[in-house]
Amino acid sequence: MRFFGTMRDNNGVLSIGEVKVTELAKKYGTPLYIMDQELIEENMKKYKNSFKSKNFKTQIVYASKAFLSKAMCQLVEKYDIDIDAVSAGELYTIKASGIDMKKVHMHGNNKSIEELEMCVEYGIGSIIIDNELEIENLSKVCAKNNKKMKVMLRINIGIDAHTHEYIKTSKHSSKFGESIFDKRLVEMVKRIVEDKNMEFLGFHCHIGSQIFDTQAFHEGIKVMVVETKKMEEKLGIKIPEINLGGGFGVYYTAEDVEIDIESFMKSMIEVLEKNLHKYDLDVERVSIEPGRSIVGNAGSTLYTVGGIKQTYGGTKYIFIDGGMTDNIRPALYQAQYEATIANRLNEKDKEIVTVAGKCCESGDLIIKNKELPKGKVGDLLLVTTTGAYGYSMASNYNKLTRPAVVFVKNGKASLVIKRETFEDLIKNDLLIEL
Ligand SMILES: *Cc1c(COP(=O)(O)O)cnc(C)c1O
Repeated sequence: MRFFGTMRDNNGVLSIGEVKVTELAKKYGTPLYIMDQELIEENMKKYKNSFKSKNFKTQIVYASKAFLSKAMCQLVEKYDIDIDAVSAGELYTIKASGIDMKKVHMHGNNKSIEELEMCVEYGIGSIIIDNELEIENLSKVCAKNNKKMKVMLRINIGIDAHTHEYIKTSKHSSKFGESIFDKRLVEMVKRIVEDKNMEFLGFHCHIGSQIFDTQAFHEGIKVMVVETKKMEEKLGIKIPEINLGGGFGVYYTAEDVEIDIESFMKSMIEVLEKNLHKYDLDVERVSIEPGRSIVGNAGSTLYTVGGIKQTYGGTKYIFIDGGMTDNIRPALYQAQYEATIANRLNEKDKEIVTVAGKCCESGDLIIKNKELPKGKVGDLLLVTTTGAYGYSMASNYNKLTRPAVVFVKNGKASLVIKRETFEDLIKNDLLIEL
């Protein structure tokens, strides 16, 4: 298993942020999400320092759906990073953290009127409009509240990137955004520009997630620059911004290619500067929206091994006290992970095992038929790279309580989300009259 950030081998016991996982298990119980705060901050600093140009301003926007908590919002604010939201619940959580709502940007392909009202009431930084109908809805909400909103329009640029490669599609059937080939696009932008309650900032795109093909992003930049220039000329307007979205891939297992944040961001800036010059476009600001690549490798999940089963059919299982409720990704899309026995790093014996959760689903497997150090009942099994889309996709299936989340740094552990209690599980549950 690969070590990330501040992970260290302390005489056979793994420590993160200079805190031994055995101590964390004792204090907070398992399953437990452990976030390496220093690594999150390192990643934020890397983005801030390398996505920079002399020619235009830049902004990093953290995609909050990867992992959202009030403490995470505090870190976002500390590094002068903006944050995006996709629902009223995310907006509410961000607002509750106390950060400046001007740093918040609202996404979503089906924003309700209530959500648009909330954006206007909270006075957020901008709304990324998804489609034609939403232009009308937002216009009405702004007019009713007598407020002006800054908006971008999400466009589908026909670059369809899936993990290791990208294809230029002609289908343009994504549920997100409006296609650049759609004849109505000019009318939509015109409609926004002419609306006195909206200020058009420019186009937004997001070509997918967990993408390793840096070429796809470079290609995306070119299309965004060309489309922006075309729209400026068609409507005789000045468009100040471009938002390139996120989706930068991270290491989960040795099958993944690594993307180094700093050199990749420098390449993005180079391609931006080159294309802006080539197409004679002068934008004030360019934004990107990394989510996974800020928190993914910084998070790990610690479980206690409760049982080991050698089946008649040959598969050997290690049973853990969590599973698909705290990490749905393997069941959802065969996501791969690395793991180790974190309380006995010097275990030499290895064996091929399947790590299974405790839910009533045969597909509740976190790791399938992979070589791991030999575990025994009572051991602490740690799965790495669970910082993104782990807690945020967690559920209460089988009435399992959601684990706690703890930030660790410089020998100190800070609880940032408490473990759910049984009382939490039934707090909205009502009896009927019989
Ligand atoms: C999910 C999402 C992101 C972040 O994607 P990552 O793969 O986590 O970097 C950015 N922008 C938009 C619009 C998204 O939907």
